[in-house]
Amino acid sequence: MLGPVILAASRSDRMRRLVSAAPVTKPVVDRFIPGENVGQVLPVIEELAGRGLELTMDVVGEDITSPAQAEAARDAYLELIDRLKPLGLGARAEMSVKLSMFGQALDGGHELALRNVRPVVEAAAEIGTTVTLDAEDHTTLDSMFAIHEELRRDVPQTGCVIQAYLFRTEADARRLAASGSRVRLVKGAYKEPAEVAYQQKHEIDKAYVRILRTLMEGEGYPMIGSHDPRLISIGQEMARLAGRKLDEYEFQMLYGIRGDEQRRLADEGHRVRVYTAYGTDWYGYFMRRLAEKPANLRFFVRSMVTK
Ligand code: FAD
Repeated sequence: MLGPVILAASRSDRMRRLVSAAPVTKPVVDRFIPGENVGQVLPVIEELAGRGLELTMDVVGEDITSPAQAEAARDAYLELIDRLKPLGLGARAEMSVKLSMFGQALDGGHELALRNVRPVVEAAAEIGTTVTLDAEDHTTLDSMFAIHEELRRDVPQTGCVIQAYLFRTEADARRLAASGSRVRLVKGAYKEPAEVAYQQKHEIDKAYVRILRTLMEGEGYPMIGSHDPRLISIGQEMARLAGRKLDEYEFQMLYGIRGDEQRRLADEGHRVRVYTAYGTDWYGYFMRRLAEKPANLRFFVRSMVTK
């Protein structure tokens, strides 16, 4: 019950101001977002890479209101890529981007987002790495998939995300699997209506398994984005049955969640990529993490009450 309420709050400006200004918020936020700028996050990248983990970096921020902010987002990613270059990690540190942050929701947003994201994709390719387009709410996805297809013409390794809770996703998965794309499969983190999405956990989990099979049996590179122990072992088994080698798929988890499991899988020889978000505009990202696990909210509220 709490999840949808928190997701609704994630869209509220009033809640954004309240939560962001509360002094006790910071330590809870730090668990999921290990820095506000590139300088703070570089040591985290080196530390995770030193432990045999791979990364996908997200500069947080999604509710922008002007083309100038979209350009600032582009520049933040270009700076990150510039700072990653001397580390020589290549594809071990890739980028995840939300097209909303590149201007997708503004007037002429589709073209604006494409124009802003293209230099990031090209700069990433120049240092031997790549970009994955995150999936946001269902109204944005036709545009996201069209931008993905357009970017793949020049940079075929550009990836995208699909969400198991949406009815449309099985068809999207078939198309993407046949095209040989890199695809991250997640359950889905937004509040979606019953007309477009499964609402029950068991329905979402079953859809996840069906879609994962399509990806594993297809031509592309599946990225299993989940912390769910059952889906992780099903993923391992499906990869084995599909005859995939350990470097022909990967697991992805969020920074700050199930670190032991990330290390366990990496120690077993799996490729494990940690989605690591940083930046100052962390509100939306943080609230989705609270919505996924009510225990996070209880911890957060307790820290507010006991300070
Ligand atoms: P769940 O059933 O939610 O969780 C399984 C177990 O994992 C829980 O029991 C708990 O132990 C642990 N866990 C899960 N979430 C948390 C948490 N927040 N805090 C603490 N423990 C937790 N969603 C999108 O809509 N678009 C995206 O582009 C997107 N990208 C993602 C990228 C990655 C790498 C990952 C891992 C997730 C991404 N998500 C994205 C979020 C995703 O949709 C889910 O909301 C999220 O992963 C929780 O689902 P789960 O598969 O981990 O399973």
